[in-house]
Amino acid sequence: MRECFNCSLRSLLSRRRAKLHDRSRTLKGMPDLEPVDESWTTALCVVAHPDDLEFGTAAAIARWTDQGKTIVYAMVTSGEAGIDGMDPAEARRVREAEELESAKIVGVDTVDFLGLSDGVLEYGLPLRQAICASVRRHRPEIVITNNFRDTWGGQALNQADHIATGRATLDAVRDAGNRWVFHDQIEDGLERWGGVRQVWAAFSPNGNHAVETTQTFERGVASLAAHKAYIDGLGWESFDPAEFLESGARQAGTRFGVPMAATFEVFSMVWST
Ligand SMILES: [Zn+2]
Repeated sequence: MRECFNCSLRSLLSRRRAKLHDRSRTLKGMPDLEPVDESWTTALCVVAHPDDLEFGTAAAIARWTDQGKTIVYAMVTSGEAGIDGMDPAEARRVREAEELESAKIVGVDTVDFLGLSDGVLEYGLPLRQAICASVRRHRPEIVITNNFRDTWGGQALNQADHIATGRATLDAVRDAGNRWVFHDQIEDGLERWGGVRQVWAAFSPNGNHAVETTQTFERGVASLAAHKAYIDGLGWESFDPAEFLESGARQAGTRFGVPMAATFEVFSMVWST
């Protein structure tokens, strides 16, 4: 069983558990999520694997590109270890193509493949350096990553690549603003970028903000369904992207007071807020 299989299976099961936990919280009281700030024009999404954004965040991406915002994806790996029956070199080609298609469905034209190795990411300088370069290239106001807490809620464990990527993303955003950190990138022509206001971690068990996804839900489903070879490779015979995504979106929506939503843990990167 390879890493990306693990990460997806665990996230499937654990999100269901986490949502049940969320639901119990909702039933006890009022909606407990604040709306995310939508007064921005550019965002960069940094995740470990193709499919990480499509398991719940893509409908929110579609909402924002519909508003005229520019969003770029950065895939730290190409998910090449994610299909058990496919050689990594072939899986890289297939999964990069699927990610480009799923990005296009939600209005994202640029996908940066950072080329680190799937399944064996470690928090450290090489990872920070690669993400820092992407932040300096694309100069976003908001950076979106995936949950990097140890669990998805309860005892359902998160996956090593996700944890390393999220933690490194928080640090790389600060690195990007310091011209003397990874200074070789500056010498090679990139400029420092200190304009990131917030980092958002999608589906964190500590999620405290949300955005409505009701109107763009179907495009989120299509974006996940574009990962056909990957989903086929998982061998989940009864897996239905719409059913899976609807379950999570509706439960987040109940917490937010709308039909469907996506949740985020928000980190301010500005001293004054
Ligand atoms: Zn993943």
